[in-house]
Amino acid sequence: MASFDPNRFVLEHDQDTPKEILRAAYQAFGELTLSFSGAEDVVLIDLALKVAPKEDVHVFALDTGRLHPETYAFIERIRAHYDIAIDVRFPDSEAVQALVRDKGLFSFFHDGHQECCGIRKVAPLRRRLAGLPMWVTGQRRDQSPGTRSSLQIAEHDHGFGSDASPLIKVNPLTHWSSEEAWTYIRMFDVPYNPLHERGFVSIGCEPCTRPTLPGQHEREGRWWWENQEGKECGLHSTNLHAITPDAPG
Ligand code: SF4
Repeated sequence: MASFDPNRFVLEHDQDTPKEILRAAYQAFGELTLSFSGAEDVVLIDLALKVAPKEDVHVFALDTGRLHPETYAFIERIRAHYDIAIDVRFPDSEAVQALVRDKGLFSFFHDGHQECCGIRKVAPLRRRLAGLPMWVTGQRRDQSPGTRSSLQIAEHDHGFGSDASPLIKVNPLTHWSSEEAWTYIRMFDVPYNPLHERGFVSIGCEPCTRPTLPGQHEREGRWWWENQEGKECGLHSTNLHAITPDAPG
């Protein structure tokens, strides 16, 4: 939507609650497209269905083929619990086959996660977002002090949008802490991924996610064998520009 000004939206709604932010985004766009990772971002679904009719709330998830069994079961549970369609997106099978044939099933341990994430996450997401005016994510500033500290409740998505086809990313949970998200989950009996009960805070693919210890930051449970900076899978690559202008998408 060419007329949507994210800076103005931030000025007007930065102090709003996530629910109010979602309501304002719905009023601006007439629909809400939510990405769902199978983790705490389930609160977005719960909130969106309180501010918009079900037919205007579009939920999608990326099935990388490497998720935990618990996450698959959780996605299905959410589909049934809210009686909504979840648009599960898959990577290009030939691209996955070529990667696995050439480099094996665990190439990310040897040469970094970008190539595998690029095929299994970023490309399917790019296809899903093509032509959309906006999408809603569950990003929070406290998830990654290195890459998400300057996150805004609304911003241009320069990673997946373009001048010809601008894309707005709305991040209603920007100012929430993990504790606030969990307070909401408990208060409203929102279903959650059982992996959280086993020490997983940030949940991604099974080979690339591990539980964190008390005092560890949640991002330390992701791609732990790599440099601690720049822990993004490419879905939010513009965050990386905050730490290095040359970071790959
Ligand atoms: S998180 Fe790991 S398994 Fe999942 S797409 Fe990225 S590199 Fe591949």
